[in-house]
Amino acid sequence: RGLREAIARLNALDASRIVCGTGSDELLNLAAQAYAGPGDEVMYVRYGFAVYDIAARRCGATPVEVPDRDYGADIDALIAAVTDRTKVLFLANPNNPTGTLSSAAEVARLHAALPSSVLLVLDHAYAEYLSDEEQDGGMELARTASNVLLTRTFSKIYGLAGERVGWATGHPDIIATLNRIR
Ligand SMILES: *Cc1c(COP(=O)(O)O)cnc(C)c1O
Repeated sequence: RGLREAIARLNALDASRIVCGTGSDELLNLAAQAYAGPGDEVMYVRYGFAVYDIAARRCGATPVEVPDRDYGADIDALIAAVTDRTKVLFLANPNNPTGTLSSAAEVARLHAALPSSVLLVLDHAYAEYLSDEEQDGGMELARTASNVLLTRTFSKIYGLAGERVGWATGHPDIIATLNRIR
């Protein structure tokens, strides 16, 4: 609770809309586990973070790797790949390992095209390294949308990977769901 309150203060968020995990890896896995299972699809961009594929397989869902554009997210390809079985879409922005960045306009366009039944997980492991102008609008989406989960980690910006501290924010229903299965 103390950690959630400190994170809330630092990021001008409501502590009740924050969930902490043993690294954001746990939260990425929980998101897949909570919203997808056998017969469902979990989508991510080729050359994305390796945990997305692991999280998809671990919950028994079908991993769907969408072709990149110049090593980054191809927003049109992602939108085109959505089916009625798509449950979770992972997007690291900025991306690891390729360092690409989708703009706020692109992220907004992607979110607007998604059915509300698809959880958009915006992985902000490197968002603290962006200037204000480069931010992708994910915090605002996590605050206002019903289907956006935004994850952050102490591993990169604070160099504390060994401590395993990650956190996520989003709609209260999503936070409650993750807390229940956590
Ligand atoms: C490092 C990293 C994470 C996970 O970090 P944790 O140590 O589990 O918090 C998640 N996503 C991306 C893109 C990363 O680079």
